[in-house]
Amino acid sequence: MNAYMNSLPKSPGEATILVVDDTPANLSLMSSLLKDTYKVKVANCGERALEIANSDTPPDLILLDIMMPGIDGYEVCRRLKGQATTKDIPIIFLTSMADVENESMGFSLGAVDYIAKPFNQTVVKARIRVHIQLKRQSSLLENLVFIDALTEIPNRRALDQTFKQEWVRAVRTGSPLSFVLIDIDQFKQFNDHYGHGSGDECLVRVAKALQACVQRPSDFVGRYGGEEFAAVLPDTDLDDALRVAQYFHAGLAALRIPHLQSTVNPHVTISIGVATAHPGTDQSLQLLSETADQMLYAAKNAGKNTTQGARV
Ligand code: GH3
Ligand code: MG
Ligand code: MG
Repeated sequence: MNAYMNSLPKSPGEATILVVDDTPANLSLMSSLLKDTYKVKVANCGERALEIANSDTPPDLILLDIMMPGIDGYEVCRRLKGQATTKDIPIIFLTSMADVENESMGFSLGAVDYIAKPFNQTVVKARIRVHIQLKRQSSLLENLVFIDALTEIPNRRALDQTFKQEWVRAVRTGSPLSFVLIDIDQFKQFNDHYGHGSGDECLVRVAKALQACVQRPSDFVGRYGGEEFAAVLPDTDLDDALRVAQYFHAGLAALRIPHLQSTVNPHVTISIGVATAHPGTDQSLQLLSETADQMLYAAKNAGKNTTQGARV
């Protein structure tokens, strides 16, 4: 859904291994060794390997022969490590050139391991298992870094990153970008009356409800901090963003979380500030977020449980 979200770690049977070798006998030997444990893809040249690595279904690990006609293994490794989308795929070199110099060359290019031919089948399987496990753990950690521990929706770090990426994309494509700030009304009183634990539960329910309100795969909702949330809506002009804000209000109303201390409404409500930019000229991402903040302030001043919006 978003660039920062890696696919979740896979169980061993779901992991895909790409075997790259120009000798058909080596390909079939490796395939038969691994096919009971993993999904196996094969490529008989460097060009084909790059194609598969760059596809929508990249492998979880690559076993890479070094000496091949055309693009050799070192060059395949160099190119994969040079692209953000493929740089985290672990590469194990698989070769008969088993001298120290070649090994260090492979490691300096970013390979995780080196297996010399002829190889011991048990050792090869064990090493592959270790690297698949490490990959799974590191992508799990990477995902956690971007998830808010309480609400389990994307956190501020994820939000900032997505906002920057979408700003750059909007500048390039000339499409509008909307930024939405959402703040729970009189949440201090909610905590004071129902307790901090209930406050936490409320935040979780609000987060899930807001996330369920957005429709497009590129729409992004995250926790901005405390009882504030934010949405980044690519390719969305002010009118459409105001419509999304109405969905947010409706989503909150449907939760019907009692808030007896609220002077606005007997149930929990939100105030929303919307800002829309057509990035370019003298605009900036900061101006867009500052404007959303001013609009949120205006919504609070206008009596809360409402939305204010502006074009930047
Ligand atoms: P307003 O209507 O103007 O937005 O008032 P408010 O009370 O919502 O805003 P204020 O900034 O005064 O208070 C925010 C409250 O949100 C205070 C803080 O304790 C609470 N809060 C922030 N983060 C958390 C959290 O993670 N859990 C809980 N339970 N409360 C939180
Ligand atoms: Mg606040
Ligand atoms: Mg508030």
